[in-house]
Amino acid sequence: MLKNIILMGPPGAGKGTQAKRLVTKFDLIHISTGDMFREAIKENTPLGALASSYINKGDLVPDDVTIGIVKERLAKEDCKNGFLLDGFPRTIAQAEALSKIGLEINRPIDVVINIDCDKNELIRRISGRRVCKNCGAPYHVDTMKPKTEGVCDICGGPLYQRKDDNKEALEVRLQHYVNETRPLLEYYEKQGLLKNFDGSQGSDKLFDELSLLILNK
Ligand code: ADP
Ligand code: ZN
Repeated sequence: MLKNIILMGPPGAGKGTQAKRLVTKFDLIHISTGDMFREAIKENTPLGALASSYINKGDLVPDDVTIGIVKERLAKEDCKNGFLLDGFPRTIAQAEALSKIGLEINRPIDVVINIDCDKNELIRRISGRRVCKNCGAPYHVDTMKPKTEGVCDICGGPLYQRKDDNKEALEVRLQHYVNETRPLLEYYEKQGLLKNFDGSQGSDKLFDELSLLILNK
């Protein structure tokens, strides 16, 4: 089984949805830098104050900050049986730092999963996205409605729209993806780690494909 995994893809490709299901199925630690920042914002910590000024505009949080929190998280004991990085790395500097950390703690990356999706579909998904305030489960106002409007099916928490899920911030996020994050695909391709998947297909089918990949080696 592949156990140290990076999940990549543009915002809205379905990383978060797949990540939640995969970590449950394979008992991996889910490390989502976006979730970590949103948690810090909710708790009003200094990290949260710093991160929100970037996130709300759609900009990337500075590398040194982001690398610092991931490094700390990856070194924890519970990551020894496998982890799934969701939303990290997003820049070449982050990827290089991650390789170094992997060597230091003897937890190298086994595979990089890239979920791709066309831009119009990304915009459609993100503009209708709602997220549970408690557990982070994702919904969509048209295509993934909860059983009761505004209420999470899983935990009963309230659904809300992320501050960066608006047109302006999304444009900025997509630009950062193209300029800073997409070059990582070539970086990992060269290392023989990259596997590409189609994020526009149904979520269940994609989950089955990803599950096979993780099991098959
Ligand atoms: P999405 O993939 O839908 O854009 P995330 O939850 O992964 O959402 O990230 C939300 C925001 O958090 C990003 O737009 C960025 O501001 C910040 N962020 C998350 N991960 C990173 C990272 N690795 N480096 C810099 N900023 C990050
Ligand atoms: Zn919930």
